[in-house]
Amino acid sequence: MAASEFDLIRDYFTGLGSRREDVLLGVGDDAALLQPPEGQAVALCVDTMVAGVHFPGDAPAASVGHKALAVNLSDLAAMGAEPAWATLSLTLPDADERWIASFTHGFGDLARYHNVALVGGDLSRGPLSVSVQAAGFVPRGRALRRRRARPGDAVFVSGTLGDAALGLALWQEQRATLDADSAWLIARLHQPTPRVSLGRELRGCATAAIDLSDGLAQDLGHILQGSGVGAVVDVDRLPVSEPARHYAVARRCLEAAAAGGDDYELCFTVPRTRLHRLDAIASRTGVRLTRIGTIEPGQGLRLVHGDGTPAGLQVPGYRHFTS
Ligand code: ADP
Ligand code: MG
Repeated sequence: MAASEFDLIRDYFTGLGSRREDVLLGVGDDAALLQPPEGQAVALCVDTMVAGVHFPGDAPAASVGHKALAVNLSDLAAMGAEPAWATLSLTLPDADERWIASFTHGFGDLARYHNVALVGGDLSRGPLSVSVQAAGFVPRGRALRRRRARPGDAVFVSGTLGDAALGLALWQEQRATLDADSAWLIARLHQPTPRVSLGRELRGCATAAIDLSDGLAQDLGHILQGSGVGAVVDVDRLPVSEPARHYAVARRCLEAAAAGGDDYELCFTVPRTRLHRLDAIASRTGVRLTRIGTIEPGQGLRLVHGDGTPAGLQVPGYRHFTS
């Protein structure tokens, strides 16, 4: 890549995403110069995606670009932060310009949608891997954390759960012709929607929040541990999409919803006194919000049916949270 590295940076990465006034100096020098706003904390996160580990190596390049940024914006959303800047470290087996063009298309579209400027990065040769760092702002003291859930708080999730896990199964089947439901589930895997505006709306409302990257059981477990509480979740209330219902039997949908990764929805807790705000938040953000359970004293996650009987799901990591 040595000879054309600078051409690639100039042609594909310079000016990618939004133009922002707080970028004093973007791509092109040894470092970017950025001006954070007064009174705001900078939320900073990074996520690496390795081909064959975090995404299928044959995933469309535009989807890889979209997802590499989306997973980071999802982390910012879970903090209640407003995205602003990103850097990108890209390791490629070769300088395949068509792949790069498509990758930057997917990345750039999502970046512009969320007003994110790409301000720097790195290109190197090696096994396909993408590392994105994202920064955003949140008013000091107002970030959503994992540690303030209290007994009696309601547990909510956004969107629908389990779609990405079912989408992965479909992708691995390598079916030549895909119906609309399958295509939608695969899109949920490859092009997750970071719930940025929801995260912002939850400031001052949610007591704890996390984004769902490793599956509900596992990720809600982090809130429970961080807050020193337990929770009961009614698995019959887990929001499952129509395409998921069409593709898989009820039991498999339930397992995917309870433990499947990669949905990038938000899970959050809300005290009883603020529940009345949620309808307005759902309609302002256009995101479905579902109450799935309640925080309780003690520790561990209990997955039950509506009538209170244990769900008996084989959820990876589940035992860890009940012991
Ligand atoms: P250095 O050798 O000083 O690290 P590079 O030659 O790697 O600089 O990069 C030159 C400029 O291009 C820097 O401003 C860097 O941030 C930017 N850059 C390099 N690769 C990328 C990329 N994939 N995306 C965005 N900016 C990049
Ligand atoms: Mg340098």
